[in-house]
Amino acid sequence: MRKTLYIIGLSAVVFSCTSQQNVKKTAYKRKTPVTQAKTAVTTQPQAKPKPQITTDHGVEFYTTNIADITKNDNTISYGSIVSAKPAGYKVTKTYFPAIAQNFRQKYLILHYTALPEDKSITVLTQQAVSAHYLVNDKEDNQIYQLVDENKRAYHAGISSWRNDKNLNDTSIGIEIVNNGYTADSTARRIFVPFSEDQIKKVAALAKDIVTRYQIPPTNVLAHSDIAPTRKQDPGPMFPWKKLYDEYQIGMWYDEATKKTYYDLALVEFTTRYNEPAFIFMIQTALQKFGYGVEPSGKWDDATKKTIEAFQYHFRPQNYDGIMDAETWAILQALNVKYPRK
Ligand SMILES: [Zn+2]
Repeated sequence: MRKTLYIIGLSAVVFSCTSQQNVKKTAYKRKTPVTQAKTAVTTQPQAKPKPQITTDHGVEFYTTNIADITKNDNTISYGSIVSAKPAGYKVTKTYFPAIAQNFRQKYLILHYTALPEDKSITVLTQQAVSAHYLVNDKEDNQIYQLVDENKRAYHAGISSWRNDKNLNDTSIGIEIVNNGYTADSTARRIFVPFSEDQIKKVAALAKDIVTRYQIPPTNVLAHSDIAPTRKQDPGPMFPWKKLYDEYQIGMWYDEATKKTYYDLALVEFTTRYNEPAFIFMIQTALQKFGYGVEPSGKWDDATKKTIEAFQYHFRPQNYDGIMDAETWAILQALNVKYPRK
């Protein structure tokens, strides 16, 4: 298993804005902490510290993040530095970092493997599918890295969310060892729960990734969210609310907003359930939230699967794929809290 070279501890999430020995003249000024005297800023622009580079096993890393996240400035950030080594020339990496850049990693996508650990490793390392990380179901402190974060892993397949498509290009994928589901006598899917220890691992890993890449809550998603007609993982047993409540990861609705929509939704569902305009409005709301569903005015198969994916994530107590008043109220509350820009 490849050593996880590219994770830099969260303890390093500090701006080295007090470092003076590395000051260099630059054309732009950094945001000054409130505690510093404002007069100093007006007379002389704050210089940007020169990034420090360390080498570990022959791979170079920036040691600190001197980007100003309040300005969406990711100039210098964590991780390995991959650069050309042209014969006879030296590539300078520290003098001229450009402001106009950002991370390619925009999404974090969670999966389950539907296989035990040994088979998961075989499939994810030896076949045409992969993920950046694999979280086992053991009570240990191991998380396996299978793909460099700067490289594309093949975990999302045909996928979309809001304006983005083919999310392998812009995402980090985490596979979680879990056996998925079995079908009961009525063909209803019965999903296998995740252990507490495993969820802690996933949460710690996810927190590290969304912090380093500044991935917004709207872009932390299930595989089933970005491919609802094909995928169910990580399924309704995955505790999205716990991740939101305890780790501030991903999206969740406000209960009070949901309540304001619920009473009206109850009336709508008794009077308008099969009305094409009503169905169209709900499909449009799903699409606005992010799902790649085409409004048709009918409760078609794609819509049913999309509703099921939504329920896996946001109303896991009942995931029958049938839109109901509670699901509709939650969807509206989410669209209020996380509007599409
Ligand atoms: Zn998946």
